[in-house]
Amino acid sequence: MKLVFATHNKNKFREVKELVPQNVELISLTDIGCFDEIPETESTIEGNAQLKARYVLTNYGLNCFADDTGLEVSALGGAPGVYSARYAGPDNNPEANIAKLLLELQNSKDRSAQFKTVIAFCTPEKEKLFTGICRGQILHKPIGDKGFGYDPVFQPEGYDLSFAEMDPSEKGRISHRGKAIKLLIDHL
Ligand code: IMP
Repeated sequence: MKLVFATHNKNKFREVKELVPQNVELISLTDIGCFDEIPETESTIEGNAQLKARYVLTNYGLNCFADDTGLEVSALGGAPGVYSARYAGPDNNPEANIAKLLLELQNSKDRSAQFKTVIAFCTPEKEKLFTGICRGQILHKPIGDKGFGYDPVFQPEGYDLSFAEMDPSEKGRISHRGKAIKLLIDHL
C-alpha cells in the first residue's frame, strides 16, 4: 500500500519509516513533488494535522496522513502546545525555542511536561484521528545531539536519557509519535 506522510521534516520521516511495516510504501511530500509549505493556521493540534492531510488528499488525490505535535508544559499551563514550532519567533529555531523554554522554567520546581501527537489519516472515504502522548520532564540544560526540536531537554518518564541521547528506533518505541503511528498501523 502506498501512503503519503505529509512532512518535509527528514528526521520525522526517518523515525516513522522505522515503525511502519514493509507492506506499507511510505512516501514523502518530496517524493510526490509537493514543495509547498502547507499552512498550519488552526488553533489546535488536531486541526493542524487535519489541515495538512486534507491538503494532500485534495491537491494530489493520494491517501495520506499528517501529524502535528505540541510540547505541553504543566507549569506553563500547557504552553507552548500548538505553537511549539514558533515559540521563540516565526522561523522555527529549535535552539531559540529551547532557550526560551528554559528561561520560562528557571524558577519552576515543576518540570513535568508531555508531548502530544495527533495523526490525521485521510482517504476519499474516511478521515480518522489517532493520538499519542509521552510524559516526561524538562531538563535544566540540553543534553545529546540526536533527534530534533525539544529532544535535548526532554527526558521521558522512566528513562535517564534525554530523547536526544536515544537512537531513532529507541525513541520511536516510546514516543508520542511512535504511539500515534502504532494506532494508525493497527487501523490500516
Ligand atoms: P510538528 O507540528 O510535528 O512539526 O511539531 C511542532 C514542533 O514541535 C516542532 O517544530 C518541534 O519543535 C516540536 N517537536 C515535534 N515533535 C518533536 C519531537 O519528537 N521531539 C522534539 N520536538 C518535537
